[in-house]
Amino acid sequence: MGWKIATEVSNILLKGSQCGDLSREEALLLLRLDLHSPETYALMETADALSRELFAGKGENHFHIGVNVTPCPLNCNFCSLAVKAGIFTESVEFSEEKILQWAREAEDGGADSLNIMTTGTYSFERLLEVGRLLKSAVSTPLVANTRDINHREGEELLNAGFVGAYHALRLGEGRDTPFKREKRIHTIQVIRDVGLLWMNCVEPVGPEHALEEIVDLMFLAKAYGATYSGVMRRINFPGSPMEHFGMVSELELARMVAVSRLVMAHVPKAHCTHEPNSLSLIAGANLLFPEKGSSPRDNQPDTGKNRGFGIFEARRMHGETGWDPGLPSNCFVLRTNGKRVSAQHAA
Ligand code: SF4
Repeated sequence: MGWKIATEVSNILLKGSQCGDLSREEALLLLRLDLHSPETYALMETADALSRELFAGKGENHFHIGVNVTPCPLNCNFCSLAVKAGIFTESVEFSEEKILQWAREAEDGGADSLNIMTTGTYSFERLLEVGRLLKSAVSTPLVANTRDINHREGEELLNAGFVGAYHALRLGEGRDTPFKREKRIHTIQVIRDVGLLWMNCVEPVGPEHALEEIVDLMFLAKAYGATYSGVMRRINFPGSPMEHFGMVSELELARMVAVSRLVMAHVPKAHCTHEPNSLSLIAGANLLFPEKGSSPRDNQPDTGKNRGFGIFEARRMHGETGWDPGLPSNCFVLRTNGKRVSAQHAA
């Protein structure tokens, strides 16, 4: 007996495999496929094949360093660092020595970037200092993950050595966070305007989110030209106010990763998933985030000692799923006059 899938799905997947523009309705139809159907596995195979071809087999590791822990007064519902989560009652700023140690560990492990994360009220000046410190010590491209910024601050990030900025319009923005959707999108525009690479993820996905809201964010990432934009599921830390919603499974996450990969078409240079999981690595994702320092998903100050994946675990997961983390990153290479140059040097 051969494989047989619905003609409507087959036609959408054919379009997706050729980097055609999926409509919102088509993306929604794919997200609604029965999880254990041949159609879902065909969707995942199509996204996987597209990524393996366009990313040329490269497995990316973008190494997260959370530089501080603080009970954050901005109180996002999904964040373990929020004051109201009650997990962290004291602030911790990791020392420069510790940050440098993690950065060198990342470099030695062949990380493709360092994602430097701060909590929402962290000093911007201090982030710039950390950027300058790392720029002088390691050659790994730097990506900032911080609060909303204006154009002047975007220029300052560039001058401090950052080549990219991670910034997401989160699911439930304005509902589960105190931030305005417009302001988050404005920051994405600022990032683009000043010449920083914009990194994104559709996050943090939970079972309570309407598929229309998820699809909206996929199309926003495409419209603003994200360097990468996969999907991260919400992790319910102990006592999370969102615990009663449950969490999406890794298989549900992989289905979303596959849909977002087809929506993004020819736009991205990589496709992320978080936390690291091998199912998404056979459904269109090729980018993992090993983690050290603070994490909004953890109840320990240094997630590297708890939930966080190490760089070698991430590399092993890439190897197990047929991706090569030893190849050069596709995210930080620009082409000028036909020559390949590092975005870090071109910025
Ligand atoms: S997600 Fe960021 S801004 Fe929101 S509570 Fe956590 S650290 Fe603060």
